[in-house]
Amino acid sequence: MADLLVQSGGQLVPLKDCFWVLTDTNGCAFGSTIGTSAVDEETAHRELTDRKRDRDRQTRQGWMVQLLTGEQWKQEAMPCFLGRCEHRKPAA
Ligand SMILES: [Zn+2]
Repeated sequence: MADLLVQSGGQLVPLKDCFWVLTDTNGCAFGSTIGTSAVDEETAHRELTDRKRDRDRQTRQGWMVQLLTGEQWKQEAMPCFLGRCEHRKPAA
């Protein structure tokens, strides 16, 4: 299979070097899967959240599925999985 390319910040990146990331309304990442496991946000969401009921709830709550490059993933999603991100600060 030829490499699929996606555009990210003005450059073309192979899909296999990207990650689909599921984020809540704060932008906090809750799940991720490799770029080649899906062709668009919808199939990626199916990949990340098994049950349709859960997906519908997430969509209603404003959760989003985004495609990040490996570099973006490291900066934006990895801290979430390590529990070191800025998103989940306790409410003041
Ligand atoms: Zn986070």
